[in-house]
Amino acid sequence: MQPDSASCSIALGAPVLSVLVPVYNEIEVLPEFHRRMTAVLRTCVDTYEVVYVNDGSSDGSLQWLQQLCADDPDVALVDLSRNFGKEIAMAAGLDHVRGEAVVVIDADLQDPPELIPRLLEQWRAGFDNVYARRRQRDGETWLKKASASWFYRLIGKLSRVAIPQDTGDFRLLSRRAVEALRALREQHRFMKGLFAWIGYPSIAVEYDRDPRLAGQTKFNYWKLWNFAIEGITSFTIAPLKLATYLGLLVAMLAFVAMAVLIAKTLLYGDPVKGYPSLMCVILFLGGIQLAALGMLGEYIGRMFNEVKGRPLYFTKQYVPSRHAR
Ligand code: UDP
Ligand code: MG
Repeated sequence: MQPDSASCSIALGAPVLSVLVPVYNEIEVLPEFHRRMTAVLRTCVDTYEVVYVNDGSSDGSLQWLQQLCADDPDVALVDLSRNFGKEIAMAAGLDHVRGEAVVVIDADLQDPPELIPRLLEQWRAGFDNVYARRRQRDGETWLKKASASWFYRLIGKLSRVAIPQDTGDFRLLSRRAVEALRALREQHRFMKGLFAWIGYPSIAVEYDRDPRLAGQTKFNYWKLWNFAIEGITSFTIAPLKLATYLGLLVAMLAFVAMAVLIAKTLLYGDPVKGYPSLMCVILFLGGIQLAALGMLGEYIGRMFNEVKGRPLYFTKQYVPSRHAR
């Protein structure tokens, strides 16, 4: 512990470990979460801070966290100006953590804090990105498991960086990995992709994912669908290529059909037929064109959002832990 140069005499310098917790309406689990978390941290590191990012909660989580901050100097609170979503909340947290290593963990106890000593072990062995891989997903529906698995398979095929399957955001990052992530200021943040994109030595630690302790998941299927589109469009331009190839293929088929039609007309004349084939072609082409336009739209919309160059988030209140004061 080296004293911080100027202003404040109680500053302790960087803690060994920062724990980053995005929180959105988690009052039912927060007390139990914090109890279990600190119990684990006390056993495995000398100094730590727990950085809670309140992502616009409306259920008293904020008040509880403010009280916690007042009682426990190892707790920091970043209170965002509204609900920005988990990905941005994590970005905000990464901007405020001070530790040599940083663990990102959900507040709902689906990610067991008891795994942290094993993550630290790999970090001490020299890995920058130690991600927790779930062996099984208890308490989740068949459909959620299946759709997640399809999604990872698809994005694995499409994207150049390998995005590990069955991993969430629960992981440990070294200081340089955190700095790398902080340099990526894009609005559309597909964190699982960004974690992989920065590179650095990575390793998996396996664990069993528990069901949510209490409260409700904030992700419904519509959100998950959007999340999947986010992942694909911010990590690959494969859909754009798909449009090109589909267009080429249809053009070729149309060309063949045209040749056949001309030949038939020349040979047998043209009694008034052709309504069905005409409709087929029009609808088919119309459909493909709309789909291709839609894909372009997805990318253009994202470009629009990036071009605006807005800050990722605004902070209403920041209470640093004693390590940063
Ligand atoms: N979360 C957040 N902002 C949001 C939604 C969720 O900070 O808009 C947090 C939430 O409090 C939890 C974590 O992100 O700590 C994971 O959320 P949840 O458990 O609802 O997701 P799931 O585990 O179902 O994927
Ligand atoms: Mg959860």
